Amino acid sequence: MKCRRCGARAEVQLRAHNTAFCRPCYLFFFRRQVERAIDAQRMLVAGERILVAVSGGKDSLALWDMLADLGHDTTGLYLGLGIGEYSDRSREKVEQFAAARGLPLRVVKLEDEQLAVPGVAAATRRAPCAACGTMKRHYFDAAAFAGGFDVLATGHNLDDEAARLLGNVLRWQKDHLARQRPVLPPSHPKFVRKVKPLYLTSEYETAVYAFMRGIDYIVDECPNAAGATQLLYKGALDRLEVASPGTKLAFVKEFLRSAQPAFAAVEQREPMECAGCGMPAYGVLCSFCSLVREVENRRARTSSALPA
Ligand code: SF4
Ligand SMILES: [Zn+2]
Ligand SMILES: [Zn+2]
Repeated sequence: MKCRRCGARAEVQLRAHNTAFCRPCYLFFFRRQVERAIDAQRMLVAGERILVAVSGGKDSLALWDMLADLGHDTTGLYLGLGIGEYSDRSREKVEQFAAARGLPLRVVKLEDEQLAVPGVAAATRRAPCAACGTMKRHYFDAAAFAGGFDVLATGHNLDDEAARLLGNVLRWQKDHLARQRPVLPPSHPKFVRKVKPLYLTSEYETAVYAFMRGIDYIVDECPNAAGATQLLYKGALDRLEVASPGTKLAFVKEFLRSAQPAFAAVEQREPMECAGCGMPAYGVLCSFCSLVREVENRRARTSSALPA
């Protein structure tokens, strides 16, 4: 098969785009795709300070690599989840990536706050991903605000967005559908703009980019991913994609074009400030502080039940 752009031998075939590329042309194509997404959605303004949430996986490191390569002012934020060896190795990958490129990196470890994901999930009897999601959102928002950043960028790719959309549609979660956009403007002075520059590039395309750019990322999934519903949705969408290439792209793009504005138009609640941490909240306490309170109560009950 030949490269669609230069006619050399193709190395990558993209069925969703009905095309194929050699290595240099693929890198050109991928970069153009991301740049177009950034420009079309007005995600970034020149000179803005961007906090990039990095997990050590291919998507977030590919995103950081590209934003830095495009000349943006980027700082990485790694949140250690305290999930055993997986967290240790993912932190190493991020630290090596940042050091090799001379990029600034901030590291926050949940275990240092006595909030490692497994312990919090057990204490609150929640699914690990539910506890993890609440804590990630809080620490990313708080770090972006405290650090005076303009934008928070995450590496969510097309597969993530399509799976999330399917989950939201299956339960008609209108609030979630109203906020499912590649650019989320701040709804409170303590929030910063949130952007997903890879929202139209598939997991496969991002993996190919990371490989071609020599990015050393953690290949293993988080051990909790196996039980996550998102994987179920991803599996279903993969089957549809094999039968009909381009399904995921059309699903997400058409949602954003024709359905999302209707959900976004439904009045959104204005957040207040959390009595615990001062960050935006929809109740007296934000969901993070409610979670922490549950953990503290549980630990207090457990320790008072211990024999003296
Ligand atoms: S799989 Fe679940 S626990 Fe693991 S990083 Fe993702 S959300 Fe967190
Ligand atoms: Zn080529
Ligand atoms: Zn709070």
